[in-house]
Amino acid sequence: MEKFDLVVKGKFVVSFSDGVIENGAVGIKGNKIDRVFREGEFGYHADEIIGGDDLIVMPGLVNTHTHAAMIAFRGLADDLPLFEWLQNYIWPAEGKFVTEEFIRKTLPVAASEMISTGTTLFADMYFFQQDAAEVLRKIGMRAVLAEGIISFPTPTAESWEKQLQYNEEFIKNWLNDELIKPSIGPHAPYTTTPEILKKVRDVAEKYGVPIQIHVAETRREVQEVREKFGKTPVRYLDSIGFLNSSVVSAHSVWLDDEEIDIYVEKNVGIASCPQSNAKLASGVAPHRKYLEKGAKLALGTDGDASNNSLDMFQEMKFMALICKVNTLDPTSCPANEVLKSATLRGAISLGYSNLGDIKEGFLADLITLKINKPHSIPVFNPISHIVYAAKGTDVNDVVINGKPVYRNREFLTLDFHRSIREFNIIINKIKDEFKI
Ligand SMILES: [Zn+2]
Repeated sequence: MEKFDLVVKGKFVVSFSDGVIENGAVGIKGNKIDRVFREGEFGYHADEIIGGDDLIVMPGLVNTHTHAAMIAFRGLADDLPLFEWLQNYIWPAEGKFVTEEFIRKTLPVAASEMISTGTTLFADMYFFQQDAAEVLRKIGMRAVLAEGIISFPTPTAESWEKQLQYNEEFIKNWLNDELIKPSIGPHAPYTTTPEILKKVRDVAEKYGVPIQIHVAETRREVQEVREKFGKTPVRYLDSIGFLNSSVVSAHSVWLDDEEIDIYVEKNVGIASCPQSNAKLASGVAPHRKYLEKGAKLALGTDGDASNNSLDMFQEMKFMALICKVNTLDPTSCPANEVLKSATLRGAISLGYSNLGDIKEGFLADLITLKINKPHSIPVFNPISHIVYAAKGTDVNDVVINGKPVYRNREFLTLDFHRSIREFNIIINKIKDEFKI
């Protein structure tokens, strides 16, 4: 009988390559999925078995755009115009509070929010990513981390040259890590210059790492880029040779048809954040067009300050619904495509060729979902269940890189209560500052 390190089994195993398998199981050796068992094929030994008849086993969710440490600013200010929100709350709060210690005390809480709602990989652009990487590595979370590079001072460094230097050092330190993939993060076309973007591209090419950038989030930004550089954001980026398959373009709300074609041709990843775009009234991304034209459409939450959640289940449902109402067509953005955006296409966008599906040879990042709750019965179609009925709190177990990090809704690799105590020290300072 074949022996596995870990077997995860369930009433349904959801796989893109093998379809939905009833009473299936996933055999894991080391950090990889070694076998996907169909019903009746059971015959294995395993050091550890997770699973039961009341579970769906599915690929871990991939959040392709967030600023995880901003969990400390969740609910600090809501229902405000974007620039008032940024100028009066977010930027002052970041200027005052974001330090290495802030990153070390917020990341465990953000990771616990993500793990407990089924995210196994996230892409992040923020500050002091060296500290973030060390914290996440201990927790066993998979992440693609980029230092924010911008034309003005950040908490990490006062000039873009120094921010870039920090980012390059960070890349060198983490280039061959199993869980942390370093990346590079020019903030946006309107907050950088062609010179910065060219230097960023050189560094990305030198090390073969992904580039995370915000593009065309608001109409105001499109106008600003047009005034500054004489072109819309995507045309501008294309004209300076910036776009290729290593670019992950966050938001990407305001693209015209020709710009969508450029993204398809250059194989740019799109990290759509529909809930953040809706909350800040930035607009609705052209999801259906992206899918119809074969763009690399992935999904993200954005930071907790603008969402106010890192729960990818909420994000999936919202993407499906806003896409349908935006096109007045209930057949657009079907559940299977939305789930792919939240898993397999997310992983591909971030440069992984063996992640985001339950498939033999793929990295073993997977989750189980309870399906025995009042809101989760019956289950006729597990994929539509995942997108339209499931909640992040249904997540029961999480395996990252072959290792369980969450079992029966308990964290195995982080001390949640201690993390909250340390986090609250920071939160109390923020409350004092803003007189809340
Ligand atoms: Zn963002």
